[in-house]
Amino acid sequence: MKVFELNKLVRESVRKLQPYSSARDEYVSDGSEMIFLDANENPFDNGVNRYPDPYQRSLKSLLAEQKGVSESQILLGNGSDEVLDLIYRAFCEPNQDNIITLPPTYGMYKVLAGINSVENKEVLLTTDFQPNVDEILATVDTNTKLLFICSPNNPTGNSFKKEGIEELLKSFNGLMVIDEAYIDFSKDESWLSQLKQYPNLIVTQTLSKAYGLAGIRLGICYASEEIIAVLNKIKPPYNVNQLTQQRALQRVLNQDLVNQEVKQILQERAELIKALNSLKFVEQLYPSDANFVLAKVDNADKRYQQLLKKQVVVRNRSTQPLCENTLRFTVGTPEENKKLIAILKEL
Ligand SMILES: *Cc1c(COP(=O)(O)O)cnc(C)c1O
Repeated sequence: MKVFELNKLVRESVRKLQPYSSARDEYVSDGSEMIFLDANENPFDNGVNRYPDPYQRSLKSLLAEQKGVSESQILLGNGSDEVLDLIYRAFCEPNQDNIITLPPTYGMYKVLAGINSVENKEVLLTTDFQPNVDEILATVDTNTKLLFICSPNNPTGNSFKKEGIEELLKSFNGLMVIDEAYIDFSKDESWLSQLKQYPNLIVTQTLSKAYGLAGIRLGICYASEEIIAVLNKIKPPYNVNQLTQQRALQRVLNQDLVNQEVKQILQERAELIKALNSLKFVEQLYPSDANFVLAKVDNADKRYQQLLKKQVVVRNRSTQPLCENTLRFTVGTPEENKKLIAILKEL
């Protein structure tokens, strides 16, 4: 195996960058009473009149403890989408470097490649929705910086086999981003435990799905200290606001409630799968390791419109490769699920 040299992957401009130093970078509170006259804030306390902690130390300390990593291995962002964008901007030289994505998959990887003027090389999943390892490795060239793996994958719902991912981690000399937005619904273990083993591994998670906090925008990136240090250089100083940090902290502390909700969602998923399987117009149901189910139907456009008329919005994924005539159903509350199933049976 080749030696992994992170510095060779970092854009030259980022390597040379002297990051902006904010007021809260230069003075870090140790908890004692101080008079803060350093950041031109309004001094009258309303709960959010001060700039937030640019490094979100309380939240990171809690996540570090729960996930068994060090705080310096965590970067937080305004949703995973910001985290992913920072990864592009740190490592991909516009109009020169490229990335590899594996459609059908999460649409943001491609959009971010476009925004950052980075070529997106697409290698389709196999027909059973697994990475085509040989073809991926054959597609890598000297300018391939990133490989995006979404597992469990959106919109297909399945997790990727461990062996394939391991082979890619060992053979690919760029950075491999494993997007674990749905990991809390999965039977499989997170790749977080493998960070020590693979210096080229980045794992992203989010509070938007299982944690029920899509509205506060909190995405999490776990990687080696070296990778996180590079990303910290380019992140906007106050990218995660005070209200988000507070709400995230409360929720992450309340792990029992999150677990209970996940359990309920998984029970409802089983009910939904049973109902979908009994429908004549459902031709195939794909295995799900997430909080949604992808179904191949007789006519996705027609079924989508019928559901809309009944006030139910699902996602039509038919434009995605390998996903012709598919609808993606997110698992709702027990009441919503009951209504959906009743409506489906009447179509
Ligand atoms: C929903 C989703 C995310 C979450 O993005 P946020 O910006 O954190 O809300 C990330 N990746 C995938 C694959 C998703 O489906």
